[in-house]
This record gives sequence, structure tokens and C-alpha cells, in this order.
Amino acid sequence: MDTGEADARRRDENDSLSHLRDRFHIPDGELYMDGNSLGPFSEDAEQALSNAVDEWREQGIRGWTDADPEWFHYGERLGDRLAPLVGARESEVVVGNSTTVNIHALFSTFYDGGEVVVNELDFPTDHYAIRAQMERRGVDPEENLVVVESRDGSTIEEADVIDALSAETEILFMPSVLYRSGQLFDIERLTSAAHEHDALAGFDLAHSVGAVPHELSNWNVDFAVWCSYKYLNAGPGAIAGLYVNERHFGETPGLAGWWGHDKDTQFEMNATFTPAENAGAWQIGTIPVFSAAPLFGSLEPFSETGIEAVRAKSLELTDYLIELVDEIPECEVGTPRDPARRGGHVAVEHEEAYRINEALKSRGVVVDFRPPNVVRVCPAPLYVGFHDVWQVGEHLREVVTTNEYESFDTRGGGVT
Ligand SMILES: *Cc1c(COP(=O)(O)O)cnc(C)c1O
Repeated sequence: MDTGEADARRRDENDSLSHLRDRFHIPDGELYMDGNSLGPFSEDAEQALSNAVDEWREQGIRGWTDADPEWFHYGERLGDRLAPLVGARESEVVVGNSTTVNIHALFSTFYDGGEVVVNELDFPTDHYAIRAQMERRGVDPEENLVVVESRDGSTIEEADVIDALSAETEILFMPSVLYRSGQLFDIERLTSAAHEHDALAGFDLAHSVGAVPHELSNWNVDFAVWCSYKYLNAGPGAIAGLYVNERHFGETPGLAGWWGHDKDTQFEMNATFTPAENAGAWQIGTIPVFSAAPLFGSLEPFSETGIEAVRAKSLELTDYLIELVDEIPECEVGTPRDPARRGGHVAVEHEEAYRINEALKSRGVVVDFRPPNVVRVCPAPLYVGFHDVWQVGEHLREVVTTNEYESFDTRGGGVT
């Protein structure tokens, strides 16, 4: 592969998604490689939010029925727009709550006291929620939370997950992509393995939605959750999404609330709960309109290009980045090289990752550090080009080969 600067520029010229970049706001002088943590501001998101603000000003309470789309069905309408990104029927997808709350909402519905299989490299909130759900039922997580271990510290063997399943397993809950190494799992394979043991299969798609195509319905996945502020670019703390396979429609949500009531009779204000006959039943309280509105806008580029084109460019960018990192001494790539096993970011491993991350940030390269030894670099395809990635490679090489990072303090606390 040609890794020269001229070649990077030539690739940008041939990139059919490069025009989208102008719709995002990246501060001058910054190389924004952190869209897997917080997607950047876009004109699309701003426009959608400002429409909602205008509707509030002009329509007041009438916005619930007269806004476009009407706020009353906002969660369902956003679910319709998200359905192609997760490969589900429109009725199976809705937005509401946060990812963590959605894990609670789904576990409180589907967990019934048996074993849950997870893995040790999970994003911690998933374990916190699952353990809490177990404890509420008087189940001891030390005995019933089966945590699949990593052999190498950065990836999980699917065969080990499948081996951990047994007749005792009630739910297999896995991420689609590991937040640190960026390993992508075969969701279809894991789902059918769970089903062979009569267990349910649930997934946390926080690191794949908007980066990788899914076919949740075809794969028969039982339920899934994700957030909208990473690759979906809907803004900090934006409303989360969830999917429930239609075969589970009609079950009473464990965290029932009036926003999940059958919409036709919600305002009859009955004292007993009739769940909506779709995934909308897992909403809880009134939708936070201003945390949801930006998503209508930020989904636009995905509707225009399709997730397949986004994924194709993402793989070209991460292939290219891996090639550049391979040329830098001391840096290891912790992300699987097989494109079918790779999400949207690349984990650069180095024992001085914390200080390298600090040095890169001081140069305007926005990346993040994840302990113990990973700098995550995310070339998100809607607003990152090949020349950007080439520049990141140059910065990284300089920071590492000149030991520039040594002038930065070692690790403190706070948000990284
Ligand atoms: C980012 C992320 C979350 C975040 O959960 P919130 O409730 O939105 O704070 C959860 N799970 C995974 C795997 C994530 O990557």
C-alpha cells in the first residue's frame, strides 16, 4: 500500500462521501478521531434541534400533536428512521432513556433468575446494571454471572463465549464491538448458539450502530440497546435506542411507564397498564424532545448514503490507519486485522499510551486513552478523510519516535 501524502489526497478525491464533511463542524486545526465516544456537531443536527425549539415557541403544548413529526410519536418515528441501521422492522425499534436505563428496562423484563453470560472486556455499565438486576431478584452474581475471559487481554474468542453457554444460561448479553480493542463479534453466530441452549441473545450496539450494518431481525436477536451520541452524532447525552424482536411483543415491561402504554388509549388515563404492541412498550416516561430532536437531523447523512457505503469507507480508513501504525516503532495494533472482525476504530497499543494520548491532544489530534495501554483512534467516515488519517499517522510517529510524550504528566483522573 502506498502510504505517501500524495496518495492520501488522491484517495480523498476519489471518495464519494467526502462532500458530507462540510456539514460537520470540526474546529480549525483539529483532527477529530473520537467519534466513537462523542460524534461532532453538524448542521443537520442543529437544524433539527432548532426546528423543535421553534415548534415549542410557536405551538406550546400543541407540539405534542401538531409538530412535525408530532412529539407524541417522536420515539416511534425515530425508531422508524433507525430501523435500517440495525436491520429491524420499524415496529421493533424505538428511542428512549439512556443505554444503561435500557439495559435495566430489558433485563427487568427478560431476566428471570438464571445465568447470564457476559465477557470481561465489557463496558462496565453493562455489568453494573446486570448485577443490580440479579441482586434485586435475590440472585448472587458471583455464581450466576458467567464472565468469559479474554486470552490476550484485548479480544474475546467467540468459541469461548459459545463454550460458556449451558442449559443454565438464560441470557447471553454481548457487545457488538468491544469498546477498547474494537473487535467486532459475529452477532448471528452468537445468537444462534444462545438459541441452541434456549437462552435469549441481547446485544449492546453502542460501538457499531452507525458504523457497521446489522440484520437484527434476520439474525433473530432477541433484544438490543445502543446510544446515539457516538457514531450517530446526536449530541452529548442524546436519547438512546432499543430493539425488541416482535416475538416478544406484548410482554409487560419490567420498568413500565405511561410512555410505553398503547398510544391509542394512553390518554384515557387508565390505572392499569396496557403495553404498546411494539417496541414502544419499553419507553418509560415522557420523551425528552430536545435530546431526541438532533437525531432526526444527524441520521440524514446515513439515509442519503446508506450504511453499506459508510461501512465500506470505514474499512478503507481503518485498513489505511493500521498500515500507518505498522510503520511506527513500538506501537502495536490491538484491533483485529480481519475486516470482518473489526468495528469502526483502531486501538493503538503502547505502554506509554496515556502520555502519547496527551501529546496527540496537545497537537490537535482528538483521540482518547483507555487503560491500561490503548489510544483509540476513530476515523469516522462521514467527516474524516484519508489525508486526515495520514496526518494522524505523522503526528503519532513524531510523538513516539522523538519521545515527545515524556514531557507530559503521567496519569491523573477525570474524563479521558
Ligand atoms: C458508551 C457506552 C454505553 C453508555 O451508556 P450510557 O447509559 O449512555 O451512559 C453503554 N455501553 C457501551 C458498550 C458503550 O460503549
